[in-house]
Amino acid sequence: MDRMRELVDLLNRYAKEYYENDNPSVSDAEYDKLYDELATLESSTGVTLADSPTHRVGGEPVKRFSPYTHRQRLYSLDKAKDGEGLNAYFQRVKKVLGFMPELTLENKFDGLTLSLTYENGELSIGATRGDGVTGEDVTPQIRTIKSVPLTIPYKGLIEVQGETVMRLSVFEQYNQKAAEPLKNARNAAAGAVRNLDPRLTAERRLGFFAYNVGYSDKDFATQADIRAFLQQNGFQTDELFMLINQEDAISELEKMEQNRSSLDFLVDGAVLKVNELSYREILGFTEKFPRWAVAYKFTPQEATTLLKEVRWQVSRTGKINPLAILEPVELMGVTVQRATLNNILDIQKKHIKTGSTVFIRRSNDVIPEIMGVAQDTDESREIQPPKVCPSCGSQVKTEGAFLYCTNVDSCAPRIVSSFDHFASKACMDIEGLSEKTAEQLYNDLRIDSLDKLYGLTLEELLTLDGFKEKKAQNLLDSLERSKKTTLDRFIFALGIPTIGKKAAAQLKRKFGTLEAVMRATKEEITQIDDFGDIMAENIVNYFADGGNAALVGALLSKGITFENDEPLAEGVFSGRNIVLTGSLSAYKRSQAAEIIKNLGGIVSDTVSKSVNLVIAGEDAGGKLDKAKKLGIEVQDEQWFLSQLLKD
Ligand code: NAD
Repeated sequence: MDRMRELVDLLNRYAKEYYENDNPSVSDAEYDKLYDELATLESSTGVTLADSPTHRVGGEPVKRFSPYTHRQRLYSLDKAKDGEGLNAYFQRVKKVLGFMPELTLENKFDGLTLSLTYENGELSIGATRGDGVTGEDVTPQIRTIKSVPLTIPYKGLIEVQGETVMRLSVFEQYNQKAAEPLKNARNAAAGAVRNLDPRLTAERRLGFFAYNVGYSDKDFATQADIRAFLQQNGFQTDELFMLINQEDAISELEKMEQNRSSLDFLVDGAVLKVNELSYREILGFTEKFPRWAVAYKFTPQEATTLLKEVRWQVSRTGKINPLAILEPVELMGVTVQRATLNNILDIQKKHIKTGSTVFIRRSNDVIPEIMGVAQDTDESREIQPPKVCPSCGSQVKTEGAFLYCTNVDSCAPRIVSSFDHFASKACMDIEGLSEKTAEQLYNDLRIDSLDKLYGLTLEELLTLDGFKEKKAQNLLDSLERSKKTTLDRFIFALGIPTIGKKAAAQLKRKFGTLEAVMRATKEEITQIDDFGDIMAENIVNYFADGGNAALVGALLSKGITFENDEPLAEGVFSGRNIVLTGSLSAYKRSQAAEIIKNLGGIVSDTVSKSVNLVIAGEDAGGKLDKAKKLGIEVQDEQWFLSQLLKD
């Protein structure tokens, strides 16, 4: 009995935090586990305490709002966790009706339930569900929700029920700018409505999905009729609505669960309802649930667990990233022990401390993220950013929210992970050069720069732990093979901050040669789609650094060559790297550039040694002078046009 009292007290405390303060301290999964334990205990002992949450809907309406008594009571939903639970529901329905009627299938929104009363076609009251009988009058707050119509064509008296949600895209945008990030879109929506200042509700840009009618002076025959009525009256309803038979339920539910991460709002399950209202009347209600509906719960995407420590890790760009080490917790079928923490500002904004329990969220197979603090404890400690590099002890520099190790040349994890990146499949594709091998090369053979990889010998490799003739020779062979690569792979492999695979391919397409990329100006680079100032600066700064330029030179001297993986078009300009300067009369420069590319040529923006032809139009200036100085062939527009006729 002690356990029962304990569970009731704990669940009541959690329910208060969740329903009344919109600030839960445990995940829904944790709450549901304790709730199920209590329900099992109650049914096995036949005892139920007077204040048990198993006999109550939601939480108490809070005093700061006027209470509002619903014309028709609202209920919670009975839950099924799996196929077995679902079958039990089907059996219960069949037992009463003698057969299994048609069902509707809908998303179960994870937001805040609202009941909207319309009289004479106008919104008169908007209220929360509260304990189902009495809710809170939040009309001014609800009026700020754009998808709640203030007037409707229907002139009778009607209560429309539905859920207000904060769309995930809105939630993300809000959190990017917010001084205090919100932990979860459900509590964000609930907190926004149950707030005395309607301006705050408006700021959160909530949405509203209508799915039901409560009290009404109009008769409906089915759930499908209700939905059509809601749509005709200007309410937003969910796109997903299906009429199904019992046999199709499980396969449809599986599809919905798989599709869940493509939705822009939170769903924690699906709702199955008997479609015909006349059958619903026969089935009736328990004190908490309708007997004609069931919620099928999806696997929770959120959990709460202890944040044990934060480790600072040096990446290949020298950025020092915080990594959260968690008390292992089951989430979506895997045991989670680590989570991302974006940066120190994020940690501070979310008030995250070690020794606290935190909310973690995992959508699909992405590494989980810490959303915020669930509960601080006596052991909670502020997280201090490192003053020196945790790996090499060098000074740390701060750029915006990020920390960097200032030791470019000899910070071990930085070098090792740059090797690992260089060798990866999308880069130089050096089979056998794993992170572990990179560590051995650095620690035991003092290989501390990328070009030195290409000087490795069989004898040296044989001195390493676990290296026998075959393994060593394989690594040497793959190093040799990797020398024949493509320009975009090579650029990506260099590990220039913010320059990923796609950006490297765009640089190759725009500039054609490594020399042209190395000489490109910020202005030229920002002409590429999706390239902003930061990316352009990163490229310019990278090649302006003498050390990097020397590294590129050293790599090339080891015999790295680029082949074109997408063969260029063949034509009169094949093999020519051309700069257009001055104005042409027949074409715009951009059109002429397109023509050259289609006829096999490469177009560069600046004159350099790798350029072998300059086409000079009227008023050509500096570029023409430079071409003459470098002895590069120069032709005029007439010549260019005559070449086009040749093709
Ligand atoms: P519920 O939210 O799990 O389900 C019932 C509600 O779902 C209905 O009242 C209705 O408003 C809503 N709903 C959403 N989509 C619907 C649709 N398409 N059709 C009909 N109804 C729809 O049940 P509840 O009683 O409101 O809340 C209990 C749940 O709240 C628990 O299972 C737990 O997950 C969570 N909770 C968590 C904590 C915590 O501390 N984390 C505390 C209390 C409750």
